[in-house]
Amino acid sequence: MNKRGYIAIAVIVLAAGAAVAYFGFLRPSAGNTPSSAAKGKVIVALDAGHGGTDPGATSGDFNEKVINLAVMKKVEALLANDPQIRTITTRSVDVLVPLEERIRIAVDGGASVYVSIHVNSFSQADVAGIETWVDTTRKPADPTWTLAAMLQDALSAATGARNRGIRTQESYTQRTTMPAVMLETGYITNPAERALLFDSAYQDKLAAGIVKGLRDFVAWRAATPPAGAATSPAPSTAKTPTPATTTKKP
Ligand SMILES: [Zn+2]
Repeated sequence: MNKRGYIAIAVIVLAAGAAVAYFGFLRPSAGNTPSSAAKGKVIVALDAGHGGTDPGATSGDFNEKVINLAVMKKVEALLANDPQIRTITTRSVDVLVPLEERIRIAVDGGASVYVSIHVNSFSQADVAGIETWVDTTRKPADPTWTLAAMLQDALSAATGARNRGIRTQESYTQRTTMPAVMLETGYITNPAERALLFDSAYQDKLAAGIVKGLRDFVAWRAATPPAGAATSPAPSTAKTPTPATTTKKP
């Protein structure tokens, strides 16, 4: 083959390569659709705090980790056949999972929302109620604030517990950019609230509140442009707080 022949073949190969690149790669990636989105479900990572050798907050023989796992499993069950949400869990038994591993499980599982379930404690037994915690590094435009507001409102409404609002604290949830919160579902050091936290019927209410908050958030996100293009404010139901102050527990 002469030199012109080689050039002709080279041109054909290049053109074919460009076509493959365009139709085979660029167009699908332009849609940026992971398999989960293709199935139309938002993946929520449910994290039951502590576990195994880490009991979490304690009061006498009562351990936080037991409540966290029980409530998490109830949320998982309630969302088992949800048309909008699929859940993954960072632990399903009484085992200690390192914090970085919890985030890795969520990210690798394709999660776009992270909810960590906890129980609080304090030196004064009269302190009771529900709080939602957001990492201090989250910017005001971060949808984490809306997630926190919707979960905090739904949890308070579902349980009738004292609404202690949204708090900020530096936490491991800053290891991911997905909306991520830590729920403090009550105080193990308050005798009345502790009794409720270990009661299956009350755990059902907590789980229902978490599910309500998650559904509200998924609906809000579906109706809201992604961050950067976001110019429309959150709906009136989402009382997005200003993350200006850092509050110490409780
Ligand atoms: Zn905890």
